[in-house]
Amino acid sequence: MATELERVDIVTVGVGWTAGIIAAELTKAGYTVKGLERGEEKTLDDYFHQKDELRYALRYEMMQDLSKETVTFRNNADMTALPMRRHGSFLLGTDLGGSGVHWNGQTYRFLPYDFEIRSLTEERYGEDKIPDYMPLQDWGITYEELEPYYDQFEKTCGIAGEENPLGGFRSDEYPLPPMVETKMIRMFKEAATNLGYDPFQMPSANLTDSYENPDGQRINECQYCAFCERFGCDYGAKSDPIVTVIPTAKETGNFEIRQNSNVTRILTENGEATGVLFVDTKTGEEFIQPADVVAVTSYVLNNTRLLLTSEVGRPYDPETGEGVIGKNYCYQVMGSATGFFENEKFNTFMGAGALGAAFDNFNGDNFDHSDLDFLHGGEIAITQTGRRPINNNPTPEGTPRWGSEFKSESLKYFNRSLSLRLQGSSLPSRNNYLDLDPVYTDQYGDPLLRMTYNFTDQDRNMAEHCGAVLGDVLEEMGADQVDVSNELSDYDIVPYQTTHNTGGVIMGADPETSAVNSYNQMWDYDNLFVTGASAFAHNSGYNPTGTVGALAYRCAEGIQQFLDNGGGQLVEAKKNGRKINM
Ligand SMILES: Cc1cc2nc3c(=O)[nH]c(=O)nc-3n(C[C@H](O)[C@H](O)[C@H](O)COP(=O)(O)OP(=O)(O)OC[C@H]3O[C@@H](n4cnc5c(N)ncnc54)[C@H](O)[C@@H]3O)c2cc1C
Ligand code: SF4
Repeated sequence: MATELERVDIVTVGVGWTAGIIAAELTKAGYTVKGLERGEEKTLDDYFHQKDELRYALRYEMMQDLSKETVTFRNNADMTALPMRRHGSFLLGTDLGGSGVHWNGQTYRFLPYDFEIRSLTEERYGEDKIPDYMPLQDWGITYEELEPYYDQFEKTCGIAGEENPLGGFRSDEYPLPPMVETKMIRMFKEAATNLGYDPFQMPSANLTDSYENPDGQRINECQYCAFCERFGCDYGAKSDPIVTVIPTAKETGNFEIRQNSNVTRILTENGEATGVLFVDTKTGEEFIQPADVVAVTSYVLNNTRLLLTSEVGRPYDPETGEGVIGKNYCYQVMGSATGFFENEKFNTFMGAGALGAAFDNFNGDNFDHSDLDFLHGGEIAITQTGRRPINNNPTPEGTPRWGSEFKSESLKYFNRSLSLRLQGSSLPSRNNYLDLDPVYTDQYGDPLLRMTYNFTDQDRNMAEHCGAVLGDVLEEMGADQVDVSNELSDYDIVPYQTTHNTGGVIMGADPETSAVNSYNQMWDYDNLFVTGASAFAHNSGYNPTGTVGALAYRCAEGIQQFLDNGGGQLVEAKKNGRKINM
């Protein structure tokens, strides 16, 4: 029998970026928030002197324990899905602060085109341009409406940046100037400019100066130590939930965090969420946490799974295309190219997670797609995240994969090679979705989340077209040999690609085709808010967290309106642009 705890105003499932933002905003407004985090308590001291590649980058010290909970995966519905036993294609964070603690800090805004993608595509190219298999939809919010929340997230983090000449309107400049322009970044920008493109310095949550954010939290100046991705920052120089929103919430006295608390169900009664059921992972004891508002903030995959196991919302059915929970799961379509330089050396061992430059001439609808067999595109970038000693062996194509020649070429090219990347958009397919696995369960006997995903023709054509540009830029930079990798085979869950999973609990204007409204409030349960990249109706050609943060600020505002004004739906449902009665 579960023990029932004292009621709170808001309970969050997990305590990462999204929960931290909601906790900070609602506790400042005087509400009580309880954060239930399955992992351990963490402070900056836990990351002190932790520059150990083997322990953190290769043995995944800060990631979810896959022996207790994982996902199953298959490429299509005719295959049997099998559990992901080792971290691979993406890394799932755990402990206080979630993945926000070991992220790189590349903090982009999506393009105005992204939020109205269906309308703008039909307007410019006609309805037939969108393939039948692609449930592409507008998000129910415009870039202009979301802009103030982007600005708020950037100021909370102290983002160091330079305006993107092809990006959306900005109400203000970045709070800090961009990171240093190193030799490789300068060469990239010069080459891109020579080719007629519009490069800019990457927006970075690795701070370029000591900074006090609007909530009074101090973040330090980056030391370019090159241990951002997969590591916590022991200098306190990378904006993460532990140095920003969590202390803000704690200082109000209205935020309680309970560690080692794994939420297993959202509890509902008469169309309302009444709270959550959770297990103390140390004792195995079960508890009920009643709350006026439940905020599901446990990352894309956990968000979707928790709704499905709790039987909340209508599960997506790929046969009919109906239902919404699990719909429009998207990923990221990557391409890369490496240039080998005989007579140039670079300080590749130095860097920071978001030290880099990019251009958007092949992203969104910034180029004409009339004669192309794909939509959208991706960001083209160079990053100097730093090369660590173990897992870096760039060698030109044709080099043996082991032996003395491999060793000597690895040594030679360690600081004589540079890589560029295409970070391509991922548009939805009717056949890519998330549901519950009928066979495999977690440590509590609950079904694992099953992922059915493969790259589509759209992805392959886009990667081929946009990825070819990477080679042109490297040649212009003076590389002696260029190896381009822009052909996609089937999606493989084993090699690391990127932790940019999106969709599953998508937002929109029409409850028939979306799970949450533009405040991330569920259409079916007024007091249940589900936020994070699970709300993305497709994935753009950027890293997601700028948009995740903006949506979390809007969600926090929605929760406050809901509580202040006595409940109800915050947005009127629409079908084809017209209001409908719910
Ligand atoms: C290695 C790496 C590098 C990245 N780099 C970038 C980057 O440069 N730029 C960018 O934009 N994005 C980046 N990301 C992505 C970014 O980290 C995420 O977008 C962001 O952290 C998502 O925030 P969230 O609050 O939705 O989820 P999370 O940060 O994952 O937080 C969710 C929390 O919920 C907890 N939780 C989960 N399930 C339960 C449960 N059932 N009960 C209780 N608690 C639960 C988890 O333990 C976790 O603490 C990176 C991610 C990784 C892994
Ligand atoms: S590179 Fe900068 S932000 Fe990243 S871990 Fe080192 S000091 Fe921190």
